[in-house]
Amino acid sequence: MGLKTKFEYIDSLRRQKPAIYIYGEQVEDRTKHPALRPVIESVGLTYEFAHHPKYRELATAKSHLTSEVISRFNHIHQSNDDLLKKLQLTRALTRFAGCVARCVGWDALNTLSIVAYEIDRKYKTGYYENFVNYLKYVQKEDLALACAMTDVKGDRSLRPADQQDKDMYVHIVEKRENGIVVRGAKAHISGVMVSNEIIVMPTRAMREKDKDYAVAFAIPVDTPGVIMVGRTTAPREVGKMDAPFRSKWGASEAFVIFDDVFVPWDRVFMCGEWEFTGMLVEIFATYHRFSYAGCKPGMCDLIIGTAALLAEYNNVEHADHIQRKLTDMVMTSETVYACGVAAAAQGKPMGPGTYVPDVLYSNIVKHTVATKIYEEFQRIHDIGGGLVVTTPSEKDFNHPKLRPYLEKYLKGKVDVSAEYRVRAFKLAEDLTAHGFAGWLMVVSCHGGGSPEAQRLTIFRSYNFNKRKELAKCMSGIKPLEECLTLEM
Ligand SMILES: Cc1cc2nc3c(=O)[nH]c(=O)nc-3n(C[C@H](O)[C@H](O)[C@H](O)COP(=O)(O)OP(=O)(O)OC[C@H]3O[C@@H](n4cnc5c(N)ncnc54)[C@H](O)[C@@H]3O)c2cc1C
Repeated sequence: MGLKTKFEYIDSLRRQKPAIYIYGEQVEDRTKHPALRPVIESVGLTYEFAHHPKYRELATAKSHLTSEVISRFNHIHQSNDDLLKKLQLTRALTRFAGCVARCVGWDALNTLSIVAYEIDRKYKTGYYENFVNYLKYVQKEDLALACAMTDVKGDRSLRPADQQDKDMYVHIVEKRENGIVVRGAKAHISGVMVSNEIIVMPTRAMREKDKDYAVAFAIPVDTPGVIMVGRTTAPREVGKMDAPFRSKWGASEAFVIFDDVFVPWDRVFMCGEWEFTGMLVEIFATYHRFSYAGCKPGMCDLIIGTAALLAEYNNVEHADHIQRKLTDMVMTSETVYACGVAAAAQGKPMGPGTYVPDVLYSNIVKHTVATKIYEEFQRIHDIGGGLVVTTPSEKDFNHPKLRPYLEKYLKGKVDVSAEYRVRAFKLAEDLTAHGFAGWLMVVSCHGGGSPEAQRLTIFRSYNFNKRKELAKCMSGIKPLEECLTLEM
């Protein structure tokens, strides 16, 4: 098959028949549903990039298994440059399309390439061979993958085996000669409703008594027993001019219920090896937190551009405080990107040679996004003024009686038409003051783990002892020579 076009991707979605429910109804054809259409456009752009003269090189890679040209979204990072290209690619895509959803599956593939390899080294299980065969299939068919890690988790203070309801984390309920049967539910799964396959992995480190919960596998989205209950950022009942971003591009998440789902052995990559779950979660978290250095600066490119356009159309772009606020927006976004570049440059190979970005920098990326994105919204609201939320709707603007009034009274800078100004404000509203804005804030906060998880990892990965040694040498407690030879 090789690289799919966007059309072939949509066709592949049509051929599968997953059980999807949105807003109380079962979806007959996911390629036609209005809530999913913008989401398909966003993922579809990843397929278009692979054929686009400007982006082709960035969006594709050479498979280290077959040497074929494949989508970069299904590539295992072979170098620091591959890590950097991940950031460049996600940034280039998200500045147009918001969340393109494929990075979660991509991070899962890279994580499993290391973890399945390490389990095999210890137990000779054959998981790595399963994984390699699966990867070849994914690369050949150019499949869109979702990754389901986050369990519904029930009582947060209890570990999986201690929960009153044993299904609060996905677990193995039966082992058969030809495969396993799993039950449970995963929450918030990005892009799963417009994917071909779901990769399932544990969400936390397990203890020996949780070993039935230490399970990783991959299945097609239309496997019997899989039920998705989702929602998307697509607007309901507003004009295209009112929601210029959300009517074209979209993000989606779904609850994925596994109602005694059968998984054949050749699709299993972990089954009870609980000691490897901590490693799996840490590696995945590093990859996924690193992803935010590409996608969030990409979205900020658009938000900053919109803020600058509003300033121009209000004719305040030369005011000192406006320039200061725009500069602050740039500094937040580019600090995140720069930290990602550092994480890529300091990445190291693990397992079979898969490159993993630097843990400390990747976590700083995600924590900065989680806490600073809110300030970007405040700044654009401040720069734009109240029209960010009060601009009349497309229908009113185009009403024959109202249009002359609105043309007159919605004008700002004299040489800019009222319609351009309305369009710019509607984009600002769509991106930063309605459903999409809330989504962007919450995904920035919780996607890849809540901020506290990053703070803990940052504290654990920073070598305070070495810095204490430095302080001892500089204060005369120890001779300076001892520090000069210390690896910092
Ligand atoms: C838009 C979006 C897209 C996502 N996409 C995906 C995806 O594609 N795949 C996927 O697997 N996941 C996905 N996630 C899930 C994401 O990883 C989780 O939201 C995140 O890990 C937080 O888990 P939670 O939502 O269950 O919140 P909770 O774990 O309930 O956290 C809520 C708060 O409680 C705290 N807390 C939780 N447990 C404890 C405890 N034991 N002790 C003390 N404090 C605690 C947390 O630190 C946090 O402050 C997505 C999330 C969002 C919002």
